[in-house]
Amino acid sequence: MTFKELGIIDPISRALEDKGYSEPTPIQQQAIPILLKGKDLLGSAQTGTGKTAAFTIPILQRLVEGDPPKGKRKIRVLIITPTRELAIQIADNIDTYSKYTDIRNTVIFGGVKQHQQVRKIQSGIDILTATPGRLLDLINQGFISLNNIEHFVLDEADQMLDMGFVHEIKKILKKLPKERQSLFFSATMPKSIIELSRQILGDFERVKIAPQQTTAERVDQEIYFVPKQNKVKLLVHLLKTASFDTVIVFSRTKHGANKIVKKLSQAGIDSAAIHGNKSQNQRQNVLNDFKDGKIKVLVATDIAARGIDVSQLSLVVQFDLPNVAETYVHRIGRTGRAKASGSAIAFCDIEERPYLKSIEKLIDQRLPVIDDHDFKEISAEAKAAQSAGKSPKKPRINSGRKTNPRRKK
Ligand code: AMP
Repeated sequence: MTFKELGIIDPISRALEDKGYSEPTPIQQQAIPILLKGKDLLGSAQTGTGKTAAFTIPILQRLVEGDPPKGKRKIRVLIITPTRELAIQIADNIDTYSKYTDIRNTVIFGGVKQHQQVRKIQSGIDILTATPGRLLDLINQGFISLNNIEHFVLDEADQMLDMGFVHEIKKILKKLPKERQSLFFSATMPKSIIELSRQILGDFERVKIAPQQTTAERVDQEIYFVPKQNKVKLLVHLLKTASFDTVIVFSRTKHGANKIVKKLSQAGIDSAAIHGNKSQNQRQNVLNDFKDGKIKVLVATDIAARGIDVSQLSLVVQFDLPNVAETYVHRIGRTGRAKASGSAIAFCDIEERPYLKSIEKLIDQRLPVIDDHDFKEISAEAKAAQSAGKSPKKPRINSGRKTNPRRKK
């Protein structure tokens, strides 16, 4: 199947060809015909599936084929997404796909001065991608009107609710025209999300790309059981011995991310952290250096890393296992994007074993355990230091365990 066969018009399909997309991904094959008909859509899909193109391509086509409102350009498409990185990425994709059309788009997000964003909006745009806070701010200041919105997209809805944006979303919804096409995307579909989607969508169709079918198939996943005290040593060992182009290391906390960067630097490995305590400019600089290959190891918290799109990302390391199983799937989705293959390694200490159980339940598979490594036991010095009272915690690892009771790789 080709994009042309899906009915995509020449100016857009040429841009896709330039980008090297030879055929639509499964979500694109399912969603594009529905969206070209103008129907509402509920999509269960995470980033990495080609979701952004699945909604931006048909919307662009409808704009090109439709009649623009008379007079000055008006914002006809609004895309809301939780993080700045994701917003920038969506706008970059729209730039790419619309390059042979006269559609104009821009992106707005908080954490930077508003002046340039306002200027771009005032120059006249058709598509606006926004994070909720900055959008409401500029609406309240009178710089943005949503009166002419024809297509509304709420992306990464579950993440949006997790980040506490529910009131902002409701305020935005009240300002949208009733007559519109609405799209709602979420990686997971808990009850709260279904309820929110009912408030947004009219009569809708549903497309579902299950995460385990899209990522788990392509991503080579491995678990290392390792005591907390040995995680840095194991990470250093893996980074020094594995061959990879770029790596993201996930840390549960911002403090933990900074600590990992420091320890890696002591071991002679350059890395950079990206998390919410860094300014927008710092985050963007780090991301650019990472995409340009100047930094090979990025240490990130989940929210900061959400949606980072690096086509050559070859390895994802979960330094801490997440306590929410869906997060594991989001993290491994950072590699093996579209058709590329990738590897995902997760460290699991004794306290994280229950998390592993719920992850395996969610993805419905046992993860292969790498049993053959040198960091399974705490070193004699570390043990001596602990029993000498340097650490008030008693070692909780049964260091006498010789064999792994689980399936070996
Ligand atoms: P997304 O799920 O939107 O984050 O997209 C994941 C990645 O897949 C991005 O790097 C896209 O540029 C890429 N991509 C999207 N559609 C296609 C396609 N049809 N063929 C190849 N790559 C694609």
